[in-house]
Amino acid sequence: MKPKLLSGDRITGKLHLGHYAGSLKKRVELQHSYDCYVLLADVQALTTHYENPEIVSENLRNVAMDYLACGIDPSLSTLFIQSMIPEIAELTVYFSMFVTVNSLRHNPTIKSEAAERGYKQMYYGFLGYPVSQAADIAICKAELIPVGEDQLPHIEQTRKIIRRFHQLYAPIFPEPQALISETPRLMGLDGNSKMSKGLNNAILLDSTRDEVNDNIQRAKTDPARIQKHDPGHPEICTVFSYYQAFSPELTNEIYSSCTQGKIGCKDCKKTIANQINVLLEPMRERRDIYSRNAKQVDEILIAGTEHARTTAKETMQEVRDAMKINYF
Ligand code: ATP
Ligand code: MG
Repeated sequence: MKPKLLSGDRITGKLHLGHYAGSLKKRVELQHSYDCYVLLADVQALTTHYENPEIVSENLRNVAMDYLACGIDPSLSTLFIQSMIPEIAELTVYFSMFVTVNSLRHNPTIKSEAAERGYKQMYYGFLGYPVSQAADIAICKAELIPVGEDQLPHIEQTRKIIRRFHQLYAPIFPEPQALISETPRLMGLDGNSKMSKGLNNAILLDSTRDEVNDNIQRAKTDPARIQKHDPGHPEICTVFSYYQAFSPELTNEIYSSCTQGKIGCKDCKKTIANQINVLLEPMRERRDIYSRNAKQVDEILIAGTEHARTTAKETMQEVRDAMKINYF
């Protein structure tokens, strides 16, 4: 039996290059060596989108298409929908008995997301989403979690919850490890924050060639560089960080041309836009095939969710046995 891998995304919008570099690429690479579960996190999306649930339903199939387009193979990976696995909600409740409110309040990702969203007070569901994430991981008995850097506090929280469960009841879960990619945090086009669905600073995976070219044109570069021959500072340039993420073989050349003022930002942007288009081209081809067959995408989600539900039921039997709440 292969070890299990779980990864997932909130269904709050289409996926972008940050998801690809931070997590999706690893999921695709590891499909043969792990039993992979891919979670379409619609419940977790509601922690910030409960007033607009239509955004979640409108994006469910978009995200599924993004997965299939970037090479997640449904014969190797189980794609499943969070809200259709009630056992996750059940396990969240059990875990919540021994997670302190303070540990959630002090979680640095919760703090920064709450600040970014201007939350003056925190709702219970939002504050508690790391507990529900721990349940996602535990229900699948996942050992490896490919994530971006912002998720590290949540994986640590999960490990603590699992250790506490083991102390209190019985050792039934593996202790999961985060897997951080070579690009733990891809910057957004604005150069201010991580590329994110909500910040209008993303290059979406379903972008056309022209959309990629246009978006790269607006990417923030070294502000001190006015003329083409001014020496640049690649270490503070968003476009250079895209070379590091998507074209590492060109970074040395670009670094020296930029610092010596031999290449202008315009040409530098043109080259990386091309490289990104090379990366996206096979995704466009796969997306084309699946978009002509919407029914097949639904069937993949239904079959994956059924499979995940079987796994979840088995785990919950063990949880109830461990907690001595299996009565009949
Ligand atoms: P939202 O604003 O809805 O939270 P998001 O863009 O942060 O959207 P998530 O669904 O929260 O996306 O994240 C899914 C996964 O993708 C996580 O593992 C996260 O760390 C990773 N990820 C998202 N954005 C980036 C990024 N810019 N760089 C690296 N990893 C990222
Ligand atoms: Mg997020």
